Amino acid sequence: MKLIFLGPPGAGKGTQAQRIEDAFDIRQLSTGDMLRAAVAAETEIGKQAKDIMARGDLVPDEVVVGIISDRIEEDDCKNGFILDGFPRNVAQAEALDAMLLEKGIALDGVVELAVDPEVLIGRILKRAEESADGPREDDTEEALQHRLRVYEEQTAPVAEFYASKGILKTLDGMQEMDEVTQQIHAVLKEI
Ligand code: ADP
Repeated sequence: MKLIFLGPPGAGKGTQAQRIEDAFDIRQLSTGDMLRAAVAAETEIGKQAKDIMARGDLVPDEVVVGIISDRIEEDDCKNGFILDGFPRNVAQAEALDAMLLEKGIALDGVVELAVDPEVLIGRILKRAEESADGPREDDTEEALQHRLRVYEEQTAPVAEFYASKGILKTLDGMQEMDEVTQQIHAVLKEI
């Protein structure tokens, strides 16, 4: 199964993607996690991405498109994958379409977790406080506000992009976590 999880920062995509990863034996591919690993390892991509990520802007499309293109070819993605944090703008969504066509891979569905903006800030600041590794560099109130703005301007249109293809399923991400998981399972049964 090949899926995309869409939703604003703090919507719970990562948590839900991990649960679905385990249940279906498919790989969660989080571009945010991959970029943070590159920053920590001080690779060329990491050096390029560090400051952009810290202020909550998007790293260049060709960087993330390249990362995903390589990653989905790996053996552990044979059974499927969940793209988490990608595509983040319409150009990336178009690049993904072209890439999948070329590789002969069909997308099964796009799951969007909808959460009101005012709920998100509270969730993320709480997550930052509770994180064992300390807060992320982009979990300051300022960077967070910027990430939410970038989401509204650039990522929200990605949902429209998939809605117009008829493969978008939008769920209420403000319910209890287990309830959201159940609804995702219900949606996946249908596809
Ligand atoms: P969140 O969803 O909490 O904002 P992520 O871990 O998905 O966090 O992403 C963190 C940061 O990594 C983003 O703010 C951005 O700078 C960068 N990033 C992640 N995915 C992409 C992408 N597909 N395109 C561009 N930048 C990305």
